[in-house]
Amino acid sequence: MNSEVQHFDVIIVGGGLVGASLACALLPMAKRHGMRIAVVEAVPLPSLASEPYQPSYDARGTALSYGTRLIYEEMGVWQALSERVCAIEHIHVSDRGHFGTTRLHAAEEGVAALGYVVENHWIGRVLLSHLQQQGGEAISWLCPAEVTAITMAAERAQVTIHHQDQQQQQQLSAALVVLAEGGRSSLSEQLSLDYQEAPYNQFALVSTLTPGKAHAGVAFERFTAEGPLALLPLTDSDDGSHRCALVWTTPDELIGERMDWDDATLLKEVQQVFGYRLGRFSRIGERYCYPLALKQAREQVRSRLVVLGNAAHALHPIAGQGYNLALRGVADLAERLGRLHQQGEDLGQLTHLNAFVEQRRQDQMRTIAFSDKVMKVFAEPRFPVQLVRDLGLVGLNMFAPARHRLARAAMGLDGTRARLHGA
Ligand SMILES: Cc1cc2nc3c(=O)[nH]c(=O)nc-3n(C[C@H](O)[C@H](O)[C@H](O)COP(=O)(O)OP(=O)(O)OC[C@H]3O[C@@H](n4cnc5c(N)ncnc54)[C@H](O)[C@@H]3O)c2cc1C
Repeated sequence: MNSEVQHFDVIIVGGGLVGASLACALLPMAKRHGMRIAVVEAVPLPSLASEPYQPSYDARGTALSYGTRLIYEEMGVWQALSERVCAIEHIHVSDRGHFGTTRLHAAEEGVAALGYVVENHWIGRVLLSHLQQQGGEAISWLCPAEVTAITMAAERAQVTIHHQDQQQQQQLSAALVVLAEGGRSSLSEQLSLDYQEAPYNQFALVSTLTPGKAHAGVAFERFTAEGPLALLPLTDSDDGSHRCALVWTTPDELIGERMDWDDATLLKEVQQVFGYRLGRFSRIGERYCYPLALKQAREQVRSRLVVLGNAAHALHPIAGQGYNLALRGVADLAERLGRLHQQGEDLGQLTHLNAFVEQRRQDQMRTIAFSDKVMKVFAEPRFPVQLVRDLGLVGLNMFAPARHRLARAAMGLDGTRARLHGA
């Protein structure tokens, strides 16, 4: 055990997409006003300097909303990120075996793209490069190191970390701890955080495939009796093959069988569900599966603690909103902490943190309800509901103001958000 306690203003537990984004968002304050930040990440980092980045068939992708682009621009990372994003110019929603279809178009909304699809590896690489190149002494990146305990005291929070490479424990302290560990570690249990959780009894089967025709920037969302199937446009691979990210919602009882199919069978089955709008599918990469549940922490702040990202809320991936929602939380928190730090306030004081939760409440409620309701309405097999939803899709397709509202929600532009401090 290293007996020396290192002190910080903010300790971020987890350097995944959300934790690394928060560190990037706080960086200007850290550099300009001496805010001391530590990020503790359990998984060793890939060496950034190693090989040139290659688009992969084995990587997972995320749909970023247009609103997320605006946040990344303020953080100063969009330019680098945009090198490998694929613009979503159109969204095509259909109901398999029924007549309802609707389409959203970027041009109709007066934007270049409704959103962007990007490999998670690339987002991670851009955020970490930014921190390494711009962070200097301002950010302490402790990795590979696992947070094993968090205890709250009146004046400061105490964090115990285990350095995996040195087999050594260390004590840190901070005015504020941000829990951004994805909600899968034992820390939330240790802290007795209470969650509201409803399983969907489904898994997301995720992979990358090659369609016969170019996707032309169209994101497809196809609802079926068993659950939705999304095909999202990706950048072409280096050999020029087209690529789409597949997210296939699969009932619990079928996931084992589908994960065991050989590639040819999987391609054939996906083709049957999706049809031939993108020609014949020819190649499929590594597949991954994730159990799906709607999960939300009832208590997202405590004195000296904020819970963020998947640790605070996990959504159905159908509408591609989980990370986009989390990033709006990151932006609001960074702006608030920057302001409080400049005013010499205690960052961990509960009244400040309660104000943050209040600021986030509406956006969280609306986004979670949107993802959950879409999922449930399209899962409903009863004829009247089916008919109403298909009429709804047709109506949306014909009625521009309703389409506009849906497009604004998909773009993450239907709420208000503070601008980032120092941007
Ligand atoms: C199939 C699927 C598709 C999705 N598609 C989209 C989409 O298109 N658009 C969208 O907006 N969202 C999408 N999401 C949601 C998105 O993936 C999540 O919101 C996002 O990954 C959450 O990031 P996070 O940083 O909170 O958690 P994570 O990515 O899980 O990161 C947590 C990090 O904490 C580290 N960690 C854990 N425990 C400790 C510890 N004790 N000490 C130190 N470090 C620790 C982990 O190593 C990890 O790096 C999707 C989700 C799924 C399942």
